Amino acid sequence: MSEENRRVALVTGGSRGIGRSVVARLAADGYDVAFCYQRDHEAAEATAKEAEAAGAAVLARRVDVAQQSEVEQFVRAAEKELGPVHAVVSSAGIIRDNPLIMLSEQNWQDVLRVNLDGTYNVCRAAVFSMMKRRAGTLVTLSSVAGVYGNATQTNYSASKAGIIGFSKALAKEVAPRGIRVNAVAPGFIDTDMTSGLSGETGGKLAERIPLGRFGRPEEVADMVSFLVSDRASYVTGQVFGVDGGLVL
Ligand code: NAD
Repeated sequence: MSEENRRVALVTGGSRGIGRSVVARLAADGYDVAFCYQRDHEAAEATAKEAEAAGAAVLARRVDVAQQSEVEQFVRAAEKELGPVHAVVSSAGIIRDNPLIMLSEQNWQDVLRVNLDGTYNVCRAAVFSMMKRRAGTLVTLSSVAGVYGNATQTNYSASKAGIIGFSKALAKEVAPRGIRVNAVAPGFIDTDMTSGLSGETGGKLAERIPLGRFGRPEEVADMVSFLVSDRASYVTGQVFGVDGGLVL
């Protein structure tokens, strides 16, 4: 992208894992990037430095995606400091696993609030100005758990299935304005979120994956990079598995 037509991307959950790789990849693709994170300031600084080294202007903010007013302020700050937001990637997410009979209401609410409400909050805050400009694209992070369900993850699976329904409905709603919406459904990706699955459990899980290993965050970022780009100009309302063949 040339200096004059640099685009702005906004990524939630950009301090680590998949979100961090997305920030790095989009910076390398030539985007200026705004990202938010929950609490790890040092990790966020490292992410910002990496993106700046790739030539991007960066805005990093601590924002709770579950809080609509905070997300709204973040989106407005990104527009003011970097320019109109062309691409939104909603990657912030949490897990609080337990069998349903032991799942507390708090763990149910927290996962729905961050994963599903957080996706609503960021898309809601960004899409109106995209509609006015008749340009823009949104990518949400679902999961294989949202497509096929995972035992001990009723809360997480519900939130990730909700994200698919949300993304498809929004895709239909904004397509007449030239805006595209797609969901990515990763399988097991090697991040802090899955670090509890290392060792024997991780090995057994990897055996179930046709490609024989967990994915890398950059492999998800590559899909996101494609989906937000003009190379995907005729692609909307889809769910893309990045899972090593796990759900074949
Ligand atoms: P991670 O735990 O490594 O990183 C999560 C990021 O979200 C962090 O930057 C954190 O600061 C941010 N975050 C969490 N709660 C937040 C909040 N309330 N407000 C703002 N930011 C918040 O997770 P990851 O593995 O990189 O996962 C990224 C996304 O991909 C999530 O939506 C996750 O559900 C999804 N996903 C991950 C996997 C996997 O195997 N890692 C598989 C399928 C889907």
